[in-house]
Amino acid sequence: MHRDGQELSVVTEDWQRIQSRRVLVAAGLAAELPDVPGLKERWGHEVLHWRHTHRWEARDLAIAVVGSFRQALLFRQLTEKLTLILRGADDLSMGQRAQLTGLGVRILEGEIGGLEIDSHGQLAGAHLTSNTQVPAQRLVISPRVMACVDFLNGLGVSIRPHPTEASEQVAVDSSGFTGVSGVWAAGSVSDVLASAPVAAAAGSAAATAINLDLLVCDHTSIAAAPPTTGGFSGAMEAEVTRRVLGPRIHGLETILSRGNGSPTLPADLHKGDQPELPG
Ligand SMILES: Cc1cc2nc3c(=O)[nH]c(=O)nc-3n(C[C@H](O)[C@H](O)[C@H](O)COP(=O)(O)OP(=O)(O)OC[C@H]3O[C@@H](n4cnc5c(N)ncnc54)[C@H](O)[C@@H]3O)c2cc1C
Repeated sequence: MHRDGQELSVVTEDWQRIQSRRVLVAAGLAAELPDVPGLKERWGHEVLHWRHTHRWEARDLAIAVVGSFRQALLFRQLTEKLTLILRGADDLSMGQRAQLTGLGVRILEGEIGGLEIDSHGQLAGAHLTSNTQVPAQRLVISPRVMACVDFLNGLGVSIRPHPTEASEQVAVDSSGFTGVSGVWAAGSVSDVLASAPVAAAAGSAAATAINLDLLVCDHTSIAAAPPTTGGFSGAMEAEVTRRVLGPRIHGLETILSRGNGSPTLPADLHKGDQPELPG
């Protein structure tokens, strides 16, 4: 996408060019998944992200959480069969470790080397690079997620780190405006934590703001335009009405004509300017 004079120009994969005065970017996110064979195919089903759903469906199952204390606490709500896998960079305070141990959470250290799949093709666990086996019907990871906005390169849209997540999103104001003329963004591209209803609401707010922006822009152009001579005037409207509607000009004729069967119009009804109309 690039700026093309007053407009924005979008070129599609099959080289169609679409020009528009305003663009709403709703391209969502891409998760940077760990390079573990088979993990990508199970993403969203058996491999989960803590902030998304499928949590209830995971209740009472064996769950392995990779990463953090907070995720472990969240999933401990759902199951007693919970393992927390800490990688090199992950850290727990003494208090957090004691809290999880007190809740019966098994804590292991290591990197995931591969997934264990049962004879029905279902996730059964993971093994660490140390060869330790971790039973898990659900694996919870926290991948870095990035706004899908490579195509905005060069327009000047700001990408900001999320305040609490290891993720990046498009910076917008409350209406979804990116600060770059003509460009709005809504949904998870500008709010990595948005659920579907939140994303839809942001799209609606942005659409309203875009409509208003176009109205203001168009009306500013009209106000700035020099007054036209010979334009459509009140007198011309009266003449058009007279020619099109004839004696039905005010819609009161049936009332006025009661009693004698023929329309009775006030004598001065057609007085006034009679401008020249073409044709
Ligand atoms: C695993 C998982 C489970 C989830 N479960 C739930 C749930 O149960 N309930 C819930 O409320 N929310 C859930 N969410 C969150 C929900 O998916 C998002 O809030 C919602 O999809 C955001 O909508 P969106 O329109 O912003 O982005 P998306 O739904 O991601 O849509 C973006 C679209 O843009 C397209 N796109 C991207 N780049 C381009 C490009 N260059 N050109 C053309 N098209 C492009 C993408 O292909 C995609 O179709 C889940 C998310 C994940 C990842």
